[in-house]
Amino acid sequence: MPTLDLRRLAQDDSVAVVGEWAADDALWAESGLTFAGRVKVDLVARETGSGEIVATGTVSTVLDRACRRCLEQADEEFDLDVALVWSDDAELRGDDGEIRALPTGTDEIDVGEAIREELLLAVPPYKVCDPDCKGLCPQCGINWNEHSCDCSTEEPDPRWDALRALQSE
Ligand SMILES: [Zn+2]
Ligand SMILES: [Zn+2]
Repeated sequence: MPTLDLRRLAQDDSVAVVGEWAADDALWAESGLTFAGRVKVDLVARETGSGEIVATGTVSTVLDRACRRCLEQADEEFDLDVALVWSDDAELRGDDGEIRALPTGTDEIDVGEAIREELLLAVPPYKVCDPDCKGLCPQCGINWNEHSCDCSTEEPDPRWDALRALQSE
């Protein structure tokens, strides 16, 4: 799993953080994120003059998704630019979570949790296969992108039913 080597960073100007997680890695369990391919990370980390560690680069994967309207599989290539910051200065970090706490007593930072958080913020909650997707017929379930049907598209409004019931009493 991709980690940031703090010992190497102490010697070099920058270190690469390159690696990947499998689509079924435990990191994604219960996150609601589902992938159709590996999640790859390609970052370069530097130490700022004031002691923060900044890692910038990209996360790329394929999201395993279905269209919200027609329910067809609609996997989506997804690339995200990220800038991760760690600091051991609690005051600087504040509490908005944008700057993360530097782990103590270790020579490396496991970037997995930070990447999961960035993905959760960035991946849209749903997907539409095409802006013009016609969806499914609510009555017969046929895919309106592929077929048409003879169902009435006017759905009865249940509020009128209640009104009619009152009037007929
Ligand atoms: Zn669709
Ligand atoms: Zn229909």
